[in-house]
Amino acid sequence: MGSKKIFRPIQDDNPYRIKKAQPPPKRSFIDFDTRRICPACGQDIKITHNFCKYCGVDLSMIEPIGKDDISKHLATTAVTDPDPEVRKEAVDTLGGFGDKKVLGILTFVLLNDPDENVRREAADELGDLHHPYSLDILTKALKDESALVRKEAIEGLKKIKKKIKPNELEEGKPQSREIKTTINEKDALREKIPNLDDIKEDKYDSENYDEEDDNNLF
Ligand SMILES: [Zn+2]
Repeated sequence: MGSKKIFRPIQDDNPYRIKKAQPPPKRSFIDFDTRRICPACGQDIKITHNFCKYCGVDLSMIEPIGKDDISKHLATTAVTDPDPEVRKEAVDTLGGFGDKKVLGILTFVLLNDPDENVRREAADELGDLHHPYSLDILTKALKDESALVRKEAIEGLKKIKKKIKPNELEEGKPQSREIKTTINEKDALREKIPNLDDIKEDKYDSENYDEEDDNNLF
């Protein structure tokens, strides 16, 4: 009748099911000349930022994808092409480059692509690149509506856990920078700079974060 059908991923295993056209990706365009995607949380941020303003990870060691022409065009295809097969192929090719700069776009695709096969491909490539920043996003993908994606996320987590030493897991994340400052050092600093904690909070607070004036912050 008029009731809305609930999408069940298991039906995709049925070869006789008529494939319905998928809606286009939620986000139609990202200008990779001026924007980059955080590999840890999947948000898009200014290309000049060395730290993610949403999750605080250090991006200084990861080149933005927009700096490489071929990768940039493939990234645009991966998020805008109307055909899921084409998007999947772009994701596969980007992952095959084996470079850290593709982590952001793969993360974005895993979180946003409407097609489960494209999302699965992104999870697969993130596992192959085994960067510790991908652990949170693959953990999030364990709740994907598609079983194919959930299975690939488990594989990805397995691959990363195998390759990464425990001391590398927190590298570049805000908490690792906190650990480096011992409590005594912090107290000593607080005496010199009374509002140290306020300054830190401002840095990652997206509400109060002024995009235009922060180029010299980091
Ligand atoms: Zn982030």
